[in-house]
Amino acid sequence: MGIGTLHNYIDGEWRVSGATESMPVMNPATTEELGQVPVSPATEVDRAATAASVAQQEWRRVPPQERIQYLFKLKSLLERDFESLAETITIECGKTLKESKGELQRAIENVEVACGIPTLMQGYNLEDIAQGIDEIMIRQPVGVAAVIAPFNFPAMIPFWFMPYALACGNTYIVKPSEKVPLTMEKVFHLLEETGLPKGVVNLVHGAKETVDAILDHPQIRAISFVGSSPVARYIYSRAAEQGKRVQCQGGAKNPIIVLPDADLEMTTRIVADSAFGCAGQRCLAASIALTVGSVRDNFREAIATTATERKVGFGLDEGIQMGPVITQNSQQRIHGIIDRGTQEGAELLIDGRNPSIPGYEKGYFVRPTILDGVNAGSAIAGTEIFGPVLGLMHVDSLDEAISLINQSPWGNMACLFTSSGGSARKFRYEVEAGNIGINIGVAAPMAFFPFSGWKESFFGDLHGQGRHAVEFFTQTKVVIERWPKTWSRQF
Ligand code: NAD
Repeated sequence: MGIGTLHNYIDGEWRVSGATESMPVMNPATTEELGQVPVSPATEVDRAATAASVAQQEWRRVPPQERIQYLFKLKSLLERDFESLAETITIECGKTLKESKGELQRAIENVEVACGIPTLMQGYNLEDIAQGIDEIMIRQPVGVAAVIAPFNFPAMIPFWFMPYALACGNTYIVKPSEKVPLTMEKVFHLLEETGLPKGVVNLVHGAKETVDAILDHPQIRAISFVGSSPVARYIYSRAAEQGKRVQCQGGAKNPIIVLPDADLEMTTRIVADSAFGCAGQRCLAASIALTVGSVRDNFREAIATTATERKVGFGLDEGIQMGPVITQNSQQRIHGIIDRGTQEGAELLIDGRNPSIPGYEKGYFVRPTILDGVNAGSAIAGTEIFGPVLGLMHVDSLDEAISLINQSPWGNMACLFTSSGGSARKFRYEVEAGNIGINIGVAAPMAFFPFSGWKESFFGDLHGQGRHAVEFFTQTKVVIERWPKTWSRQF
């Protein structure tokens, strides 16, 4: 590829950034440099926010039914360019082409749901709250909103928010991850092709300096963030201090429980996909498997075999089941956590460090890794690894497993594998996490449901997607009206 330095899209134009700093964008499988991303300064955030603010005055007056016509067009353009967008995701992010297509499909589904805005955005009313007095609740847009996105889903995550924001009459700024900015660049060419009025959508590349300018800008009224928990916490407090509406989806350490009555073949396949799919770089990746009672040995053996058989390589190549991790730093960090696990007493059942992948020897690969006998209180039991590493823990009962999960500070996802309805209900009822899977390994809510992280995995109130997004991107206005009979004209 080699596309030089990326441009921002502000006020309907592609603009060269005046940034003094830029960062390389790499293909993590080949380590080829794909381009440079500018660290846009505060002046460029200001330009985007001002353009968005001016555009919003007109955009909010466009009837919802007309606003969604741009989204219908966007859906068809995303479908037209589906293959090339998916390839771009794989090239910059490392996941397999199948995984890239899956995330793109999820992005499109959010566009589809947002097309229901003329219904979803409706308020409610009641006649005669007192004699002759009526009360109505109207939803109005918040103004200018922005998303700060992580690297692991370059296409999907901005779509958890942007289509709803636009459909509700807001204008928007996207700040993609500096590690994977190419996909959004392509998406913005499609947004341009829809003919959206200038200033309605804006793309500002950058890193911390750019984010801080977004957080502090007085014209940006709402912030959506997805990324690691320490940054989520920082963004939540800084944006809230500025009086903004803010939702921050953070990191995770997702447990799954395997009961002795689970279907072992199905469970193993699903848990392996969850732990090693997207090279473990999913906020819904299974990270700890708690085996209960007699299933311990059989599950350990089966998951070890599956992990060893996984085909690792460049995601565009045929038959590849797992790609690299995002950067060399990430690779080294994962190596360090594996070392730490063994120092804390876990047994390295499968060691995926330092693999040699033919043709991609320099790539940032870590093969599936399994640590057995992880101790409940150890650092590795509570640290988000964000790599293809599964820890195994063994307990005697479902109660013990649920209690361990509930002691964790994380709350993004928890899953149970069982054939017992009673166990499933108990788990669903008692476990403290926001996304629950029963015989499901990646409990990713569909676009019409909220992406419901809890605890350290989420800071805020309203989550991304579906009705939560509609509430987040609108403010309620209540009108109380009295029209005395004596004021009616007689015609
Ligand atoms: P990250 O927190 O490093 O970066 C996310 C975004 O924040 C990027 O756009 C980055 O430019 C910006 N950023 C980074 N450091 C910053 C700082 N100090 N100040 C201001 N802005 C900063 O996350 P990542 O490595 O890109 O993504 C992986 C993380 O995202 C994992 O922890 C994963 O669990 C999480 N994640 C969560 C969800 C969810 O729905 N809960 C979904 C996907 C990913």
